[in-house]
Amino acid sequence: MHIDVVDSECFRPMLEAEIQRYAQQRVDLLIVDDIADWAASRTENAKGNPPAMAVTESITGRWGIVLRRAIDAAWIESIVARIEVGANPDAREVLCTPETFLRHLVLHELAHLENGWGQEKENDCDAWAFEKMQSIPAFER
Ligand SMILES: [Zn+2]
Repeated sequence: MHIDVVDSECFRPMLEAEIQRYAQQRVDLLIVDDIADWAASRTENAKGNPPAMAVTESITGRWGIVLRRAIDAAWIESIVARIEVGANPDAREVLCTPETFLRHLVLHELAHLENGWGQEKENDCDAWAFEKMQSIPAFER
């Protein structure tokens, strides 16, 4: 599996449409070079340095998804390997392009927001994201 994301900004229109299709409220998509750096500058609490993160503004309650601009092949491989043993043995077949990988990644973060699920619910978030991806036939996308 050798896919990498060079600039997730290229997929912004598709990702924003995908998020909004399943979100109950407006979600801001923020693309940053490094999530740990971004979080440190915002006094947000990022665990380690994730490829994506769901955030809720403490004052306004606005929802946001922070996404890393570039994600290399080794990183994607380790994420897909985790999903494969956790939520979906077919993850490798489904998440085989930068587009599908990113769609799943942002829907995973949306699952945290929509369901109020914490970090202990990673497999549930992955499964929720796959469910949404399969709910619309490919020809309508
Ligand atoms: Zn998560």
